[in-house]
Amino acid sequence: YMELSRKVMQVQPSATLKISATAKQMMADGVDVINLGIGEPDFQTPDNIKQAAIDSIQNGQASFYTPATGLPALKQAISQRIEADHHYHFDPNQIVVTDGAKMALFTLFQVILNPDDEVLLPVPYWVSYSEQVKLAGGVPVEVSTDEQLRFTTADLEAQRTPKTKALVLNSPQNPSGLVFSRAELTAIVNWAVEHDVLVIADEIYEKLLYNGNEFTSVLELDDANMDHVVLINGVSKAYSMTGWRIGYAAGPQTIMAKMGVVLGHAASNPAAVSQYAAIEAFSGDQSSVETMRQGFEARLNELYPLIERLPGFKMPAGKPAGAFYLFPDITEALRLTGYADAPAFVTAVLLEAHVGLVPGEAFGMPGCLRLSYATDIDSLREAHRRLQKFMTEKI
Ligand code: PLP
Repeated sequence: YMELSRKVMQVQPSATLKISATAKQMMADGVDVINLGIGEPDFQTPDNIKQAAIDSIQNGQASFYTPATGLPALKQAISQRIEADHHYHFDPNQIVVTDGAKMALFTLFQVILNPDDEVLLPVPYWVSYSEQVKLAGGVPVEVSTDEQLRFTTADLEAQRTPKTKALVLNSPQNPSGLVFSRAELTAIVNWAVEHDVLVIADEIYEKLLYNGNEFTSVLELDDANMDHVVLINGVSKAYSMTGWRIGYAAGPQTIMAKMGVVLGHAASNPAAVSQYAAIEAFSGDQSSVETMRQGFEARLNELYPLIERLPGFKMPAGKPAGAFYLFPDITEALRLTGYADAPAFVTAVLLEAHVGLVPGEAFGMPGCLRLSYATDIDSLREAHRRLQKFMTEKI
């Protein structure tokens, strides 16, 4: 068989997609699996957004290529949304629309990284950052965090080298739900600017904040630092539009222009119909965002105490402020049940208790697991019952 590229050989398949595929296969085989493994809202895309897409098909607009970096009207809608939410202005030529936020990140790494350039990833971090960095020829560098999953500029400084090119700052964070305070953000961004490190701010969960917790966007900090910031966002989580594949990057025009060149060759443009839907998402009635947020909040408030009380499950960072995941430390649960590590535990839970979870290894944190509560409350209660029973039987 022919030799494949060294680049792809060092990339791991997405662990969240892998466990989800196994869970889906079991479901197809008739097993009643509750899959808490994937980061996807269970709500339908709001009707006004669906209707905008239908209109664009029926009036013929969706039939054609759009500009590679997105429809001007969509960039306008994104710019206005950002302005309304964070009082920061991006010119439309500073915005690049992509096939999901994932593609925005992928393209950005292609544009900024030279071979062996390093990207700082505070742990835990979303599974795709490290693999995308490798695919771009770069080197992911983990930044250690404290018990509460917080880090300071001293932790960043400990990992900084002449090759340090960028830092990914994901708030609210997948998988822990952690949200950075304004003071933390200020210190981190100031540090990055001082050392000429690009801050990649992934704010895809910005609308999902609970129990009075507040979100500060990097855009609300000192404008003078914005030449070192690229914002990543999209419609997937806030508008329950994972299947539509629309995300974006916004930042320095030189970087965005090169992203446009790459995208022009790689993708031509994100699906036109999805772009028309996204215009409505960003500029239409926003009330469904709040309705869905309240739904997630109710689930969090019911599920958190249940999971926290499972034998050997610990929540060192406390109750999550945002996103839709719990990220318990299960070191003690592993000791109690005798499983060697989180992947072994998660596999046994899937095969025996029929609950899909993701091991912390996928986020750079062995000894933990991620559980998504973006599913209906009855399934969450049943998943908890199964976990409880699993633990009781194994101890
Ligand atoms: N960034 C983070 C932190 C995510 O969790 C996800 C999705 O899981 C994405 C980006 C990608 O979202 P999209 O569906 O827009 O590609």
